[in-house]
Amino acid sequence: MKKIRLFTPGPCAVPEEVMLEMARPFEHHRTDWFKEFMKQAAEKLQTVMCTKNECIIITGSGTAAAEAAIVGCNPAGSKMLTIEGGKFGQRWGLIAEQYGIPVHRHEIEWGTAIDPQWIADYLKNAPDITSVMLTHSETSTATLCDVEAIAKIVKGAGKLFLVDGITSVGALPVKPDEWGIDVLITGAQKSLMLPPGLGFLSLSEEAWNVIEGNKDQHAFYLNLIKARKSAQGHDTPFTPAHVMIRGLVKALDMLVEEGMENVWKRVAAMAEATRKAGQAIGLEVFSKRPSDSVTAFCCPEGVKVKDIRNELQARYGIQSAGGQDHLKGKIFRIGHMGYVDDMDTMVAVAALEQVLYKLGHKFELGAGVTAAQKVFAERL
Ligand SMILES: *Cc1c(COP(=O)(O)O)cnc(C)c1O
Repeated sequence: MKKIRLFTPGPCAVPEEVMLEMARPFEHHRTDWFKEFMKQAAEKLQTVMCTKNECIIITGSGTAAAEAAIVGCNPAGSKMLTIEGGKFGQRWGLIAEQYGIPVHRHEIEWGTAIDPQWIADYLKNAPDITSVMLTHSETSTATLCDVEAIAKIVKGAGKLFLVDGITSVGALPVKPDEWGIDVLITGAQKSLMLPPGLGFLSLSEEAWNVIEGNKDQHAFYLNLIKARKSAQGHDTPFTPAHVMIRGLVKALDMLVEEGMENVWKRVAAMAEATRKAGQAIGLEVFSKRPSDSVTAFCCPEGVKVKDIRNELQARYGIQSAGGQDHLKGKIFRIGHMGYVDDMDTMVAVAALEQVLYKLGHKFELGAGVTAAQKVFAERL
């Protein structure tokens, strides 16, 4: 017997109810039957994304939604500032360059978060910047930045603010309307408990004004003007992944029923338990400002990341992630997103202990599980 236990930071575990919903017979997409799913999904997305702004559904992964935002929000004469402290932050600068959009790509050390004061100082001396884009929870380094403080600075300077919330929405507190995020981007396969294939955006009126004025933007499939026009009639410009949108309604129902505050608490507990467990068994957390949606541990001496991940997979069906680029072989990551709870996390911690024990890492067996259990028990 081999259970599949997804602890990768995307794709993440999907509830059986969502899988079953998507297995049901379906109709054509240009029907009232589908429009009802679109209507419900757009409304429920507002609750889960904590916004009154219009939400758009894109068929394509999170990157597609981000690309639509970048190309739509930067008409001729624009210049974007991107903050790059990992693989995803980097991607938004690369997309801008690909479209010929002027961009200042500010690199920071991987595993650190941007100091909001740096952005304030930079914007003071850069009147040509029209938009700022950053990644809230940088999944590649498991690092969280202070989007609330940064939003105040960016909006205070009168710039458009785009946030990659792909591993923060549905896991960590994100409040676009309260904080001042113009475009919030997320995707299906992280905290929204779906397989990969959909991207989502919430857009402020200020963002729409820029996008609607950007008539000759270099986007056809990812054109948000077209997407908005269709969405107003609960429709899509092209054939949507409509079976997934049906599953989305189910997944959003589950999140809404739990309540976003409770979702955030559940994720925070899993992250704290995992970090404490790691500490107890001699593992160092990689990030200087850890995100609660995924934990990155430095690989302990004398052990190889490849072996940890292979053993977790082969013995317990647990899939984890390694490091990317220069962090390859240096860190491994365990996610706290999707359909996971306290007890799933206890399983992951126990399995990690077993595997590290077998690989010769020295620690007191059971110390990690005890530390994690304490975090959960104290919150009962
Ligand atoms: C996964 C991820 C992306 C990329 O999303 P895709 O759905 O793979 O295109 C972007 N940003 C962050 C923070 C992510 O975790």
